[in-house]
Amino acid sequence: MTSTRGAPVALLGGTFDPVHYGHLRPAIELLEALNLSEIRLVPGRIPPHRAQPRQSAVNRCRLLHAAVADVPGLVVDERELQREGPSYTLETLRDLRAEIGPQRPLCFAMGRDAFRGLESWHRWGELVDYAHLIVTTRGGDDAPLSANLQDWLTPRIAPDAAALRHTPAGAVWFQPVSALAISATGIRRLLAQGRSARGLMPEGVWPMLAEAGLYGYPQV
Ligand code: ATP
Repeated sequence: MTSTRGAPVALLGGTFDPVHYGHLRPAIELLEALNLSEIRLVPGRIPPHRAQPRQSAVNRCRLLHAAVADVPGLVVDERELQREGPSYTLETLRDLRAEIGPQRPLCFAMGRDAFRGLESWHRWGELVDYAHLIVTTRGGDDAPLSANLQDWLTPRIAPDAAALRHTPAGAVWFQPVSALAISATGIRRLLAQGRSARGLMPEGVWPMLAEAGLYGYPQV
């Protein structure tokens, strides 16, 4: 067994267009379930796998900072904003690995919906050379994985969450989290229709939405 040094560094990637409680609550549950001291939320600048975000990376990041300001253990990691070109997770993990050294566990968390599409990610098979993958699962997201992804996954499934501390990278762990029926798409739709999206996002984001009139929210 490879020896490890230090507490795991954990990241949660996403577009956060805008951030909402469906991002924050699973992140907090992960923090507790895996006994982590911190989770870094990493907004992607130009996500390669999906439609381009409605708001600029700078605005999404400002909202994210406002959303986590009062939440112990959640921090914003802006490294993908500082790079040119698409936000490839592989590069993010490689950068972080170089920063934290070869022995510290590094974990990259994503929802099962994102994991199902992993094979379309840039050099996806190499992600686990740098980090463990944590796949958050919630009720209703049990669509089958492709046979190829399933074959790749099977030998890598961690026996328990503690195993993520025993090696620096290489395993996949499925972590159940609460299912909140909230999506950024739904929030953008509500705001575009002039309807309320209160209660779906932390209160701290509203002054910023109003100040800049983001997502069609009436500007003050
Ligand atoms: P969109 O509606 O624009 O596709 P989204 O709300 O799904 O966005 P993303 O920024 O794409 O948000 O998601 C980042 C990560 O958070 C993904 O891995 C996704 O699976 C997870 N996630 C998003 N919404 C929820 C939710 N309601 N409950 C649990 N996890 C979620």
